[in-house]
Amino acid sequence: MAAPSEPSPAVQAPALASLGLSTERPLVVVDVDEVLGLFMKGFGDFLAEQGFDLRVERYALFESIFRPEATQPLSRAEGQALYDAFFRTACGRIEPVPGAVEAIERLSRHAGVVILSNAPAEAEAARREWLLRHGLRQPLILNRGLKGPITAALVGQTTGRSAFIDDILANLDSVAEHAPQTATFQHVADERLRRLAPTSPRHRRIDDWAELEAAVEEAVRA
Ligand SMILES: [Mg+2]
Repeated sequence: MAAPSEPSPAVQAPALASLGLSTERPLVVVDVDEVLGLFMKGFGDFLAEQGFDLRVERYALFESIFRPEATQPLSRAEGQALYDAFFRTACGRIEPVPGAVEAIERLSRHAGVVILSNAPAEAEAARREWLLRHGLRQPLILNRGLKGPITAALVGQTTGRSAFIDDILANLDSVAEHAPQTATFQHVADERLRRLAPTSPRHRRIDDWAELEAAVEEAVRA
């Protein structure tokens, strides 16, 4: 889950060569929060330290943050301030999703991998450090807004096949629209969120990384 983005200029896709990636190999574009990293758990732990509860009962992050014993969530502005504070100070503490790092390492033997996150710009250094600390040396791009346009611009540079992995249906739909040649996979790491996250038959939904790795591998194999 992520905050709805405010209007800002689109992020331009870098050249694959500038990221050290081949224009002839397959390309896998993968999200961080709820795909490589346990965002909901990390954000919930951060909120608990600040004296708030994250109640995962609906698919709406800013309607899920409460003062203890309150029946009404915090205001949108209060929730946004906590979300921003988390990315400013604590997003480097989230845990990797079980199996994700090893799967990305194996996929990287046969495909280029780009990590595409909609984390706020001020989280960039912490996010890069988090990826490296967990052995993920693949290039990171911080995006804003729906991920279809930038993904299309990335996968359009390679003659290889491509795959896109994200938890959020709007991003998956956006990629299906802008890069219809790209195989789309939905992965929701948080077990509480799994039953709440909207899905679509347009995208394969695979919440287990071992199974996801095999499906992505098959999708991008030449
Ligand atoms: Mg995500």
